[in-house]
Parts: sequence; C-alpha cells; structure tokens
Amino acid sequence: MSGNLGRHGDERSRQAFEQAKKVLPGGVNSPVRAFKSVGLTPIYLDHGAGSRVYDIDGNQYIDYVGSWGPLIMGHAHPEVVSALQETASKGTSFGAPTLLETKMAELVAERVPSIDIVRMVNSGTEATMSAIRLARGYTGRSKIMKFEGSYHGHADSLLIKAGSGVATLGLPDSPGVPEGVAANTIAVPYNDLASVQLAFERFGDEIAGVIVEPIAGNMGVVPPLPGFLEGLREITSRYGSLLIFDEVMTGFRVHIHCAQGRYRVTPDLTCLGKVIGGGLPVGAYGGKREIMEQIAPTGPIYQAGTLSGNPLAMTAGYTTLSLLTPEVYNRLERLSARLEEGFTVNAQEAGIPCRINRVGSMVCPFFTSDEVVNYETAKSSDLELFRRYFAAMITAGINIAPSQFEGMFVSGVHTEEDIEATIEAHRRALRAL
Ligand code: PLP
Repeated sequence: MSGNLGRHGDERSRQAFEQAKKVLPGGVNSPVRAFKSVGLTPIYLDHGAGSRVYDIDGNQYIDYVGSWGPLIMGHAHPEVVSALQETASKGTSFGAPTLLETKMAELVAERVPSIDIVRMVNSGTEATMSAIRLARGYTGRSKIMKFEGSYHGHADSLLIKAGSGVATLGLPDSPGVPEGVAANTIAVPYNDLASVQLAFERFGDEIAGVIVEPIAGNMGVVPPLPGFLEGLREITSRYGSLLIFDEVMTGFRVHIHCAQGRYRVTPDLTCLGKVIGGGLPVGAYGGKREIMEQIAPTGPIYQAGTLSGNPLAMTAGYTTLSLLTPEVYNRLERLSARLEEGFTVNAQEAGIPCRINRVGSMVCPFFTSDEVVNYETAKSSDLELFRRYFAAMITAGINIAPSQFEGMFVSGVHTEEDIEATIEAHRRALRAL
C-alpha cells in the first residue's frame, strides 16, 4: 500500500474541499467532517485497508475513527468485501423479503439480551426516531426523557441539548425543531439519578420513555456510574415508562452482548446501528415481542423503508458480527488498555491535565483534571489544547476524530505496533503542546 505515515502535504485535499463547497453545504454531508472546530482542511480519503487509511495527497494514517464506529474489524476486511461482492452480483435491493434478513435478525436476537424481535432500518437516526414513536404509541404518552450531551441522531425530538456535532460546533438547540416538539423532550444531566427521579415525580405519568446511551459516546466517552443504569431501570418500571438503550455506538462495540450484556441491565427497547452495518448504512430497533408487535403490519404504529434490510447491508453486518468472537473482544480490551496506559503515562510525564475515560475499545482523553461524568464536566476540557493536540496527531499520521466530544475506536485489526506508534505520537504531541 502507498503512502508514508503522517500528513506531509494537503494540497489536493484543499482543492477538493474548495470544489466540494460549491456543491455541498460546507463541503460535506455530515458537519464534523468539515474540521471546522479544529480549523484545518479535512482529509480527503482515497482508500483504507485494515487499521490504515490513505488520503488523496498520498499520506497514510493509523485510523481510530473507523467511519465513526462501524469498522470494528477495520477497513475493507477481506471476508466482508468478498461477501459483499457475492451478494452484489445477485442484485442490490428487491424491496421484497430475503433469507438474509431473517438470518441477520436471528443473530441479533440471539446476541442482544433485550431483543426478542427486531426491525431493520437504514441509520441510527431512523432507529431512535422509530423507537420513540413506538414508545409513545405503546404507552399513549407524549414526553421523552434524554440526557444532556447525548446524541441520538437528528430526529426533531432528540435534537435537544445534544452531543456529537451539535456539541462540537457549540450550537444551541437546532432551529427548525418546533417548540411543541421540544416541549415534549425533557433533558437532564447524565449519571444524575436524582434529577431523573425529580422529573418523574413531576411528569411521571406523561413520560413514554427514557432514551439513554448506556455508555455516553457523544460527549467524549463517559461511562455510567455504578447504579445509574440500574436506577433508570427501576424508575422507568415503577412509572410504566419504557427504558430505551441507544446502543447505536456501543452495540457489539463494548461486548458480544452489547453494553446491556456488559452491565447486565435489560432495557425494553434497544437501538442499534454502526457495527451491525459493517460499514454499510444500517440501523435497527428491537425489544420485547409484545411491544415490537405494535409496529405495522402486526400493529398500528407505522414505520417503513424502501431499502430497509437490503441484501448488501445485511451481508456486511452479518459477516462483521460473525467475525466478532470472544477472542476479538479480548484483543480489543488488551490493546485499548495498553493505549490508555500509554496515554496516562505520557500525560503525567508532560505535566498536562488529562483524564482518560475508556470502556473496552472506546477511548477518550479529555484535557481536564476534573473527573468527567457528564456533559458539564466534559465541557471543562481545554478545547484550545485539544485543537493543538489534534493537529499534532494528524501531522504524525494518527487519525482521530476532529472533536473533543468524540472518542477513539480501536479495532480488532490494529496491531501492537500500531498501538505503540500511537502512544509515541501522543507522547511527542503532548510534549510539544
Ligand atoms: N445514536 C448514537 C448513540 C450515535 O452515536 C449516533 C451517531 O453517531 C446515532 C444515534 C445516529 O446514527 P446515524 O448517524 O447512523 O443516523
């Protein structure tokens, strides 16, 4: 494969970005890709292989973005590519049932404790949007609770006090979300059961469901404090609200049975995406049969999709999930723990305030000395320091997300050498700050 590790020039990427801005809003199809908050030219990628990506300027990077989470087995995994080629040769979409969809649903139901049956959609946004419609339809209630700094995609009801790109760009709640819709969303601080309890005391019989990232991954990485998820389970059950785990990011990322298997808390509904699409556009939501069968055609709550469950997406997802053995999760844990350890030592040696949060292969160094347990504490990070750190890492050939509010994703195909090279780049970056 071509390219030297590190960003040695960006002329072509600059030109490509200027060209793109003429025809795409901000030059991109998803905001954070524009590198606005870090003030650099976005990297235009040409191809990827395993743990590496290669840009159009001939630069090579060790990649920890992994298409923002899906590529847990790296870029262009040979088994995924060959399965896709075989499926594509038979036709890309039919809008009629295929055996692949049932095979995929069986695998998901077998692995995700809360899922009896599952509906495939095309993105995480569709999954969460459909799950809250289902929660509202099932309970006959209107309000939804979410957590500040969490991101559940860009459906109107969920775009309140959101994380991810909304946090990265420092935007207030998005214009275009009608007041009436926003009024039905209650946002409380993550990891704060007292606030949840208070809101339930006030609005309990109006709350259809609580949607939560069981590990928050859109304000950086913020693990649930002990008892937080259990508390949500207890309160929602007491008030007859549904507990919805948004596992779009954590699903199959942190455990073979997802975050709910890792923490042993079973929600009523689960949203999936990213990893289950193996790099193709997929989302899914599933849960108890009794609730899920309220969706059309068995029930009255409507949700549909022209390309939902299409053969290519099912193939990439199924093949990826099949590659995820217990050995892969052990490897992810080992490599990620080493990364955390190396980063911690580097920060201590450089005398830079840094908190490293990690769950499995989700890793996030925050530039703060405060413990990061929610959005407020995540925002105590020094964003100017992050900007300079990001530039140094990119220059050294380590591709991380251009935002303090996103984590790094280690993949099952990163090598020990990749991890050591990353720790060394991090050491140099911190020294130069
Ligand atoms: N939920 C979570 C937890 C996410 O991290 C994301 C995307 O980053 C979404 C939902 C939305 O998924 P998508 O971008 O596929 O619409």
